[in-house]
Amino acid sequence: RAKAGGRSRFDFYTEDLTRSARLRVETERRLRCALADGQLVAHYQPQVEIATGRVVGVEALVRWRDPQRGLIPPGEFIPLAEETGLIGALGDWVLHEACRQGVLWMEVGIAPLVVAVNLSAHQLRQGDIVESVARVLRQTGFPAERLELELTESALMEREGDTVGVLDRLREQGIMMAVDDFGTGYSSFAYLRRFHLDVLKIDKRFIDEIDQQPDARTIVDAIIAMGHALGLKVLAEGVETQAQLDILRTQGCDLFQGYLRSRPLEPDAVTSLLRTDGRGRSLVLRVATEDR
Ligand code: C2E
Ligand code: MG
Ligand code: MG
Ligand code: MG
Repeated sequence: RAKAGGRSRFDFYTEDLTRSARLRVETERRLRCALADGQLVAHYQPQVEIATGRVVGVEALVRWRDPQRGLIPPGEFIPLAEETGLIGALGDWVLHEACRQGVLWMEVGIAPLVVAVNLSAHQLRQGDIVESVARVLRQTGFPAERLELELTESALMEREGDTVGVLDRLREQGIMMAVDDFGTGYSSFAYLRRFHLDVLKIDKRFIDEIDQQPDARTIVDAIIAMGHALGLKVLAEGVETQAQLDILRTQGCDLFQGYLRSRPLEPDAVTSLLRTDGRGRSLVLRVATEDR
């Protein structure tokens, strides 16, 4: 209770709360403008086939190019976008942008290439996700067979029954489905069977320890074996060292993403990477336009 003549802890607490609430409202407003003003950009991280070393796909990763603050990573605004529902419009934008870019790559003869796009739980909850994905494919002319949608374990589990149906309707169109950050959530082997998926992405935290911790190595081994038993391709996220890649290769992992090969790149840098890809992999470990 406020003491007469003094300021109580409660007063400070409300002040703090007001300040952080105001900051949130302000950030939300700026993010809404960023979306409308074209300040969002998509970068693309190559997905590499381990057996051949070839880039077979890219994952679209959104960034906010703020005139004052520079390039802002998604970790700093996706959670807010999710809480405020702005993720619906933002997610639509990324999907449309990635498919549009995918068509541009096809037009310059870069193929075959899978484009992966992250979906949030909120987008899945919206109900019209199947229609809105179909609309984007129609509008851009990007082939459904080249689109992959990534969902985290927790997004999949949230409304399990409905989600199974949504995923099946997306897959009926030819779209591939991936489970992202595998191993960080429920990791229930049973749910992997219920959802009809195409790709299992092992979370970076296991890959980080794979060459140090026998346990991590055993877990990754088990995930790969289980993924393969269920007919899925397995991708390792966040591969940074040759040692990690060598282990993954002996374990029979299919694909990887990571700084070892490339950071997420601007579209033009992806184009040059893909142009040189057939001639060997030495050229593009680091590209000038990569994320700073
Ligand atoms: P994610 O989908 O698991 O994406 C992988 C993240 O790991 C990316 O971070 C990527 O830049 C980073 N990464 C890849 N290889 C390496 C590596 O070798 N070392 C390290 N240290 N990091 C690596 P980013 O771009 O900051 O994205 C973070 C997360 O933000 C994504 O995790 C995804 O959950 C979310 N996100 C990004 N774009 C979108 C989007 O368009 N929609 C939604 N809903 N979420 C998005
Ligand atoms: Mg992802
Ligand atoms: Mg991931
Ligand atoms: Mg992640």
